[in-house]
Amino acid sequence: LITQQSQEELYNVLQENLRLQQTGEVDKQRVVVVSLSPQSRASLATKYQLSSEEAHQKLSGFFKKLGVHHVFDTTFSRNFSLLESCREFVRRYYEGETNKTSLPMLASSCPGWICYAEKTHGSYILPYISSTKSPQQIMGSLVKDYFASKQGLTPNQIYHVTVMPCYDKKLEASRQDFYSDLYQTRDVDCVITTGEVDKMLEKENVTLGQVEVDNSYSVMSGLISPDGGLRSHIGGGSGGYLEHVMRYAVSQIHGSSVENLQYKTMRNQDFQEVTVELEGKRPIKMALAYGFRNIQNIVQKIKRGKMTYDFVEIMACPSGCVNGGGQIRPTEGQTNNELLDRVKANYNSVACVQPDLWNGVKEVYEDWLGGVDTEKAQAMLHTQYHGVEKTASALNIQW
Ligand code: SF4
Repeated sequence: LITQQSQEELYNVLQENLRLQQTGEVDKQRVVVVSLSPQSRASLATKYQLSSEEAHQKLSGFFKKLGVHHVFDTTFSRNFSLLESCREFVRRYYEGETNKTSLPMLASSCPGWICYAEKTHGSYILPYISSTKSPQQIMGSLVKDYFASKQGLTPNQIYHVTVMPCYDKKLEASRQDFYSDLYQTRDVDCVITTGEVDKMLEKENVTLGQVEVDNSYSVMSGLISPDGGLRSHIGGGSGGYLEHVMRYAVSQIHGSSVENLQYKTMRNQDFQEVTVELEGKRPIKMALAYGFRNIQNIVQKIKRGKMTYDFVEIMACPSGCVNGGGQIRPTEGQTNNELLDRVKANYNSVACVQPDLWNGVKEVYEDWLGGVDTEKAQAMLHTQYHGVEKTASALNIQW
């Protein structure tokens, strides 16, 4: 898997495209699309001392120079992950009156957490996990279904690469659920980590600062308008799921709004709680739980029937995706925390927009999915999980 999903595989595809160009068989080339994650961009921007905008445009320039046709930003697909999570929460909140596994809803965008839940807790915990796909996999559907049809291509004529802050995203992309038997292709063909992009820069013998910028614009490119300018989402380095789900829940369930959410640190910085209490209404209680120790605590509480949260934003890495295992490591003499603070500062320097107000989102819902809550929206934006029941062999029991 690791050799299959690496920068080497991307180089092979680009070389094959070059060969086809030289032999006049351009129509056989695959259209190469790279989707950048905002956490990877922040890590590279920090290493090369660039602003987020500069890093974004230079990364786009770098990939295009290598022969990539289109460079997108997974912040665009995160709009759909956030909006779907919000709607799913409200639906489950009302279902909770009759269905015991509707709440708490547990966020699903971290494959480290999903693998752990499937393998360690069998089918017990899975009904609680949100069915909404992660930004990487929604980008996969956008590229292989929507973008492909707009370009008059079949999904297998596109080679789709994502740049991600962690290795677990390679496992996520390889899940059978994200493979099309019809076209024999994955929604995301190859995942390369931030560190692997840095190795590509080394191989090409350039620093990111030396690369020429590319500021071509499309709704999926991450630039909010043809004049440039990146946008992000409020609420931290893993996407701000709690922030958006809570605000939406308060507006839809209680018909009210909150100015600022008050985060209360519980056991440690990676375990925080937010409660919104409005007079005469049932309080809505949510938490962030990052890192395995905090995750285990949540899982145990659910198993013992002691869970009081309605929603938990779960991420396997302490501090979330900005601190993923595939990010650029500290230099000599630099501590992990010093580097992390700088990456977070870069990540948070991007102005935020509400996902429903994002340029193009409403149009894509209409044009691609026929609106919200349609059958196609369910198929393209949601997924399912598979518990690995503990068998004698999985537990390594000798009979
Ligand atoms: Fe990957 Fe860590 Fe983010 Fe999970 S929290 S998606 S393991 S970087």
